[in-house]
Amino acid sequence: MTAIAFRELADIGVERLRGVGEKKQASLAAVGITNLLELLTTYPRRWVDRTNEARLADLVPGEEALVLVTVRSVTKRTTRNRRTMVNVNVGDGSGRMDLVFFNQPWRERQLREGLHIALFGKADIYRGGLQMSNPVVDLIGDRTGRIVPIYSQSEKARINTWEMAGWVEEALRRCRDRGIVDSLPATVSARLGLVSRFDALTNIHLPDSIGDKEMARRRLAFDELLRVQLVLVLRKRTMEREQSGIAHDVGGDLVDRFYAAFPHSLTGAQERVIAEINNDLAAAHPMHRLLQGDVGSGKTVLAVAMMLAAVQGGHQAALMAPTEVLAEQHATGVKVLLDGVSVPDPNNLFGDRPLRVELLTNRVTGSDRKEVIAGLADGSIDIVIGTHALIQDAVDYSSLGAVVVDEQHRFGVEQRAALRAKTDGVVPDMLVMTATPIPRTAAMTVYGDLDVSVLDELPPGRTPITTHWADGPLMETGVWADVREEVAAGRQAYVVCPLIGESEKLEVASAEETFERLAHDELKGLRLGLLHGRLSPAEKETTMDSFRAGELDVLVATTVIEVGVDVPNATVMVILDADRFGIAQLHQLRGRVGRGEHASKCWLVTQQDEEAEGNPRVEALVATTDGFELAEVDLDLRGEGTLMSTAQKGRSDLRLASLRRDRKLVGLAREAAFEIVDDDPGLVRHSDLADELALMFSESDEEFLSKG
Ligand code: ADP
Ligand code: MG
Repeated sequence: MTAIAFRELADIGVERLRGVGEKKQASLAAVGITNLLELLTTYPRRWVDRTNEARLADLVPGEEALVLVTVRSVTKRTTRNRRTMVNVNVGDGSGRMDLVFFNQPWRERQLREGLHIALFGKADIYRGGLQMSNPVVDLIGDRTGRIVPIYSQSEKARINTWEMAGWVEEALRRCRDRGIVDSLPATVSARLGLVSRFDALTNIHLPDSIGDKEMARRRLAFDELLRVQLVLVLRKRTMEREQSGIAHDVGGDLVDRFYAAFPHSLTGAQERVIAEINNDLAAAHPMHRLLQGDVGSGKTVLAVAMMLAAVQGGHQAALMAPTEVLAEQHATGVKVLLDGVSVPDPNNLFGDRPLRVELLTNRVTGSDRKEVIAGLADGSIDIVIGTHALIQDAVDYSSLGAVVVDEQHRFGVEQRAALRAKTDGVVPDMLVMTATPIPRTAAMTVYGDLDVSVLDELPPGRTPITTHWADGPLMETGVWADVREEVAAGRQAYVVCPLIGESEKLEVASAEETFERLAHDELKGLRLGLLHGRLSPAEKETTMDSFRAGELDVLVATTVIEVGVDVPNATVMVILDADRFGIAQLHQLRGRVGRGEHASKCWLVTQQDEEAEGNPRVEALVATTDGFELAEVDLDLRGEGTLMSTAQKGRSDLRLASLRRDRKLVGLAREAAFEIVDDDPGLVRHSDLADELALMFSESDEEFLSKG
């Protein structure tokens, strides 16, 4: 009798379970559960440990406790200051207690008379009796046992947590005789001390102790992480095996002269990353590397050196930016860096010719565009800088040897494929640069098919940015005084307007309003400019030019200034309603100042909120300017949901594993994935694992598997 494979579980519909008729089947389908695999991998949200249960009669006022009680009555009313208040009376054999819920009107519907519930909270004495306010409530129904699993319930789906527990119990009971396939190599589970998969699935749903549940969680979380890592590592190894690249000459004259002419000495981090890049450039297989580094950490310099290495060997290089503005800025910057450089040219009498750098965006039109396209095709252009226009159909390269992509987030697998199609099978070395640092474990998971380099050191001599929190109108007054002072000293300032939901229209309206208010009141007499997404490119350009030229003192803007604006004389950044922005965005915005010789300041303005206890994001920004530290805080505060949404989708989503909690497990899973793939590249001897990957990942991921 062979054990049951995941695929077999996926083929058994939930309607085969007792008590699942047409109605329940539809309800389950509504929450994404149609078969036994989906049922068994829908894990409890919480576990109520009844061994810690107290009786109402034994509750000690002021101490937290868990009690299991029955609902006796429920009433709802509205308080004088218009808050809803739901009062519930509960009891167990030993006594009674009142519950009070503020601002949770739905409790009236949830807590019906006669319902068995578990409560966790702190009881206090109120008017002579016991009362808990806003306790954690779990509906446990008729479940017995020491540990009761609590599943997420959706009001709409009409499935109770105890029904879920019942179905899971039945499914596991039916699997018991045959067992469930354990696809993990025994060496790995032995080394990491992981429990078997059947035990893990049993103990995550119906544990005898919290310890058992933890062991089960560790095993199942590892499985999730391993599957993700296997897909990424397979993809990486497949690319390395199947793609032929260019072995670049990294010791060339051109690169040496570039470094020699660079007016600064490189930072330690730059030296380290150059070595990593050069290693890959010199190898015959193509590089796919992610370069993370804060704004100003010196990524562009390395990118230019890399492009020169390609040019040295007679190839071309391309730098692709996410927006036209950024592409134009890069083009200007790179032209300055490479001014006067010449490249070897055997066809020329003198043996060389000037290096040629061109810009290609959708704004380059007519004969200019024709010329660039011709130059790329005949090889007379060495370096091209542009937007997605660089990978459009009409663009052909003579010999593209290196590609730099600025900002990974807008450049996906498809674009990479489009690029590859332009190079006749020879894959250019690719460096992806991002100024939005993400924590190591997240990088391993989201960009696990790339190698990762980190520039974690800023060049010396930067005047650090100090960040301050201005909470409430009184402190805001001080902010505007500071802006006036800086302007009086010859500096300039940015004011970023509140982010309003998803609506650009509202955002623009708010920017206009802020502009009017500041111009007539707080910043009256200063020269103000307004920048937002609804202006035409020409209008934006004019405003930016005046600001750059110092003809404007203050630029009032929406987040359109988030990327790419570089005005060294601007030393103050004011962000209004800063608590509406995410950490990464605040960090990016702040990076717009601190680019010159003068000390810079960032003001985070919030409207005082008495009920909020501090503001962790704003406080994090005040505490550090280190992007990596902020990225860790961000992950802690937000969880990985948002991160993962850009990566693998579907059944392979991380349900138990957490990139924060399970940092160590992520590394171990990656290690195991390399071990397995390098030992058995086609997963021939790991057919159960291969089958699970095929089952649980989308088709585009599967492509890499079938190639293996
Ligand atoms: P990034 O692309 O990471 O934002 P850049 O490469 O544009 O950073 O560098 C930002 C600024 O710092 C540029 O003016 C650059 O010339 C300068 N810079 C780069 N590396 C160094 C260094 N090692 N020492 C001093 N200045 C540097
Ligand atoms: Mg740069």
